[in-house]
Amino acid sequence: MTSCVFCKIVAWETPSQRVYEDDSYIAFLDINPINFGHTLIIPRKHYANVDEAPEEEVANLMKLAKKIGPAVVRAVDADAYNIGVNNGRAAGQLVDHVHLHVIPRNEGDGLKAWLGRGRYPEGEMGATAKKIKEVLEKQ
Ligand code: 5GP
Ligand code: ZN
Repeated sequence: MTSCVFCKIVAWETPSQRVYEDDSYIAFLDINPINFGHTLIIPRKHYANVDEAPEEEVANLMKLAKKIGPAVVRAVDADAYNIGVNNGRAAGQLVDHVHLHVIPRNEGDGLKAWLGRGRYPEGEMGATAKKIKEVLEKQ
């Protein structure tokens, strides 16, 4: 897709700091890192998001995260890493070319990405689980 910023990176029309590439995937440093070493893993082929990409592509992205995550941690002397996907605009997706974030983390680095909002009201947790199961069963 010619207008896609990540397709431009794949085509070297936009420069990037690549850390990994093979025939089907590339990984490069995020230009606006949460922590230094923050890496994005993408398929060379354009899919807008996880829902548009074939299962195998999504699985392969996770396989690569398992390979690249520990390497990033070692390289920047981190303690751990987050694997993240923002899937859709309301979830924070800004670039519509499916990608995984690998974010190195240090003990006490202050990033709190998953703040809970408190417990469900009485009965709501069971009702929510029931609804999700019903949708899954109809798929
Ligand atoms: P999203 O919010 O879509 O999950 O994340 C997109 C990420 O792509 C952001 O973290 C942003 O900093 C990164 N990004 C956007 N444009 C560029 C670019 O041209 N080069 C690089 N290296 N990263 C980019
Ligand atoms: Zn693209």
